Order: sequence, then C-alpha cells, then structure tokens
Amino acid sequence: MIPPSARERMEKQQYRFVGNHSAVKVCGWTKNMLTQKGGCYKFLFYGIRSHQCMQMTTSMFCANRCTFCWRGDKAPVSRDWYGPVDQPSVIINEASEAHKKLLCGYDGNPKVNKQLVEQYKDIKHVALSLTGEPITYPLIDEILSEFHKRKVSTFLVTNAQYPEALEKIQNCTQLYISVDAPNKELIKEVDRPLFPDYYERLLKCLDILKQKQFRTCIRLTIVKGVNDTDLEGYEKLVERAAPDFIEVKGYMHVGASREHLERSNMPMHDEVKTFTEQLLDVFKNYEVVAEHGPSRVVCLRRKGGPKRYIDFHRFFDIVNKGNIAGASDYSSDRMMPN
Ligand code: SF4
Repeated sequence: MIPPSARERMEKQQYRFVGNHSAVKVCGWTKNMLTQKGGCYKFLFYGIRSHQCMQMTTSMFCANRCTFCWRGDKAPVSRDWYGPVDQPSVIINEASEAHKKLLCGYDGNPKVNKQLVEQYKDIKHVALSLTGEPITYPLIDEILSEFHKRKVSTFLVTNAQYPEALEKIQNCTQLYISVDAPNKELIKEVDRPLFPDYYERLLKCLDILKQKQFRTCIRLTIVKGVNDTDLEGYEKLVERAAPDFIEVKGYMHVGASREHLERSNMPMHDEVKTFTEQLLDVFKNYEVVAEHGPSRVVCLRRKGGPKRYIDFHRFFDIVNKGNIAGASDYSSDRMMPN
C-alpha cells in the first residue's frame, strides 16, 4: 500500500508498519504523560489516560488531500480499498507490540514514574486517527469489537466520505466526523476530495451519525482566514448530525501542511475561544464544558446530553454482552477509572 521510499521516510519519523495496511506511531502526549508533563486534551475532556493510549490506523490511504493535513501530497490516496485484508486480532497484536517497542526506552528512564511505566504496557485506549482513513478497512466493525473484547476503548475519526462503512459500525466508544469547512465550496477548497460527490457523502454521514446511539463528536479544525467564516453553514451541518460533543480546534502549522498554509493561518488559543463564542451565538444547543490551551481546543457539549467523562467499565459491560451502547449509559460527571 505504501511505496518503499515513502515507507522509509515514515519509518524515520517513527511510524511502524503493521501487516499489509496498518501503522502505529506514539503520540507526543503519550510521552508527555509518561514524563509527567501532562495529559492530552482527551484526558482532560473525557478521561482517556494518554500514557495508555495507542495511536494507529488500519488504512494508509485517504480519499482527501486536506490542505491542513501534516501528511503531504506524497501520502497515498484512493477512493477504494486495494490489496490484502489483515485479520483484526493479527493487527491488534502486532500494533500493540510495535507500540510497546517504541516506548521501551522509557523503561529505565529515571524521569518516569515506575507505576506509569508498568501502565503504558497495558493499553487501554486506541485512537484510530493517525493517518489515512481507518474506516475504509473492510473489517472496521470487527476490529472495534475485538478492541472492546480486550477492554480497550475506541475513538475513531472519519472524514465522512464512506457512508456505507459508517453505517455498519455497531459500537464505538466515541465516533468522530471531521467537518473541515462550513459549505460545499469551501470544503472542496480545504479538503481537495477525490470523490466528485464528496458533499453528498458528507451529508449522508452526518445523517448516519445522528442515528448512532453511542457517543458522537464533530471536530471543527479552524484555519484562520480560511474556514473561520459562515457560522450558519457550520450550524446547518452540525445540527444535521446533532453530535453529543463538538471539538473546536485550531489548525497546527506542522508537517506538510506548511506547503499549503502560512503560520499566520494558525489561530492562537484565545482566537479559537473567540471563534467558539461566535459559534455559540448560532449553536444554541451547545455549551462550553472544557478547554485545553496547549492543543488550542475547546469542548462543547450538547445541552442535556451525556456527561463528558467516559465510564469505561460500563461501556465494556454493555457492548461485550452484545448490546448497543447508549451515550448516557456510559457517561459520568467525574473522571472514571479505566
Ligand atoms: S487520545 Fe489522541 S491526543 Fe490523546 S494520547 Fe491518544 S492519540 Fe494522543
């Protein structure tokens, strides 16, 4: 799936390839938490233990070339799946091994608390959002279910180009759709999609997200001077999915996105907050529940919706009995053990 030259470049950037189409890379926040420099915004917002999180993808290709993405134009793109399909348990076993190997340097590190070192080996969460579009993996629902059996919570991010794949997901701890601009024209400009019917696909995915009973979230990545406009457009798209949470996040001027955007397109945290306040004038059903300055992100919760923290044990109890998890059934107003 990945040409040898790109593979070599990515390995130098600390990606590790798993089987035929998956990859892992340790998130900077996993390392920060291990060295007690603080957890990621999902720790603060929802209770995800960053040092026990594995960041990975089940597909290296994507059907968009988003201008704000750090992957660059050399990253593979495709509309359809191609090549072999690895089994979920093989991917999870190999990805976990690769993840732990990437972190093993911390084992004897005096800056790392011994308890945290033991804990990182016990992966409790997977973020399926590293690169590519993980939802295109034909066994995506099966791999989510296998993670849940192993009591690993799942966050899956999709760019909403594959409604059929989204439809078949039965349970996910928190499922995200990225809405990268407020209207059809700007989405084309920001995402540079491969599918000619990209907008209809997005709308279909938003409609499907609304039907899901588990926790859902829409992520808005704000690129200053590019997509920080048309608040009503955002409201129309967001209300179509009526997610439990919205994350309003500032674009980060890193990686290959620097070829398309300027440093000045990166909003400061205060600017993200100001834009969020403007959004709240039209997003009448949402309220601010948390913010994380280092990641330049604000968390909004649907009024009267599920509490912000995840009750992990409750989630596994429900889904591992073969039931569909309802968002409020595994949400709490205090941080829960994982
Ligand atoms: S949840 Fe996301 S930001 Fe937090 S440690 Fe995992 S990959 Fe990093």
